[in-house]
Amino acid sequence: MDHYIEPIARLINELSRLPGIGGKTAQRLAFHIIDMPREQARQLARVILDAKEGIKYCSICCNITDSDPCSICSSPRRDKSIICVVKDPRDVIAMERTRDYRGLYHVLHGTISPMEGIGPDDIKLKELLHRVQNNGVKEVVMATNPDVEGEATAMYISRLLKPMGIKVTRIAHGIPVGGDLEYADEVTLSMALRGRREM
Ligand SMILES: [Zn+2]
Repeated sequence: MDHYIEPIARLINELSRLPGIGGKTAQRLAFHIIDMPREQARQLARVILDAKEGIKYCSICCNITDSDPCSICSSPRRDKSIICVVKDPRDVIAMERTRDYRGLYHVLHGTISPMEGIGPDDIKLKELLHRVQNNGVKEVVMATNPDVEGEATAMYISRLLKPMGIKVTRIAHGIPVGGDLEYADEVTLSMALRGRREM
């Protein structure tokens, strides 16, 4: 980084902290940005800030949203007796792409992972229990990823919900073990949803 003047070195450094951006790419992007017309660079800086500052969390489902409650929670067309529990907001987008699911969501913002020191209190679990207790929910679909943490989280939540008389199901077929919900195609995810089983 020594060969760069300070402002460029700082830009390269910030860009290289983004996922999937190595040193070479960061350098290429940095030089692309300083070659941009001033207004275009301002626009880029502005949309980054707007995205960050304009986003809040839905007070019901914890998904990211620009209005509270989010458009899904406030839609009269959604079935409020069923909640699909996912790890992060990208999974909601993946599930919505199936066009198969008409219930609500709950975004945990993580999964329980003792290895990484993430416990039940570190994810949006209290919020889920509160919803289930108060709002006539009949079924909770556990749609966490089919990896070790996802399965453990689904199992943990299922044990809490079942004594409350809630039907708990788990998406099953179609998603490869160790796979990531976010990258599953619509057909696979549709099948997984239809093939859910009671836990
Ligand atoms: Zn919501």
